[in-house]
Amino acid sequence: MSNTIAIVGRPNVGKSTLFNRLVGQRKAIMDNESGVTRDRHYGHGDWIGKNFVVIDTGGYVHGSDDIFEGEIRKQVKLAIDEADVVLFMVDADAGVHGLDEEFAQVLRPYLGKKPILLVANKADTNARAHASGEFYALGMGDGEIFAISSANGHGTGELLDEVVRHF
Ligand code: GDP
Ligand code: MG
Repeated sequence: MSNTIAIVGRPNVGKSTLFNRLVGQRKAIMDNESGVTRDRHYGHGDWIGKNFVVIDTGGYVHGSDDIFEGEIRKQVKLAIDEADVVLFMVDADAGVHGLDEEFAQVLRPYLGKKPILLVANKADTNARAHASGEFYALGMGDGEIFAISSANGHGTGELLDEVVRHF
């Protein structure tokens, strides 16, 4: 696959909401081709004339807040293997979470080898967007933090402008 974006991050940060915004009305493709892929969804999107495939990850056991380290490694591995650009999503409303730090630890060795964009979702207001600077503490390089709202679309254009630069 070419021009592939993977969205990774702990549960409830808004990965699927962003996926749905990027894919829009288009139906998911290549879904559930095997047990191995049952916890991710693939869809098509486009931005300024560039087509891409977006992968939504997750699919943890419903009703459980636990993610095991193995689950994080699995998500990161698929993102690194399959994606041209990885979106590491955190929750600007909730602030830095322990599981964000675990994801950051697993992703950090890939910095500089694969574009990993830190995306602070739920930045519905300017105040929350400004507060997203706290995520620099995750040490995901000195790159920009993309403060977005998957719910109202704020910042998603700027994020996609950067994403397609890597295609
Ligand atoms: P996932 O587990 O990472 O896939 O997260 P979901 O996409 O299922 O979203 C988790 C919750 O966050 C849902 O209740 C969403 O409606 C909410 N949510 C997602 N994006 C936003 C956002 O930009 N702003 C706000 N306020 N809520 C959001
Ligand atoms: Mg989800």
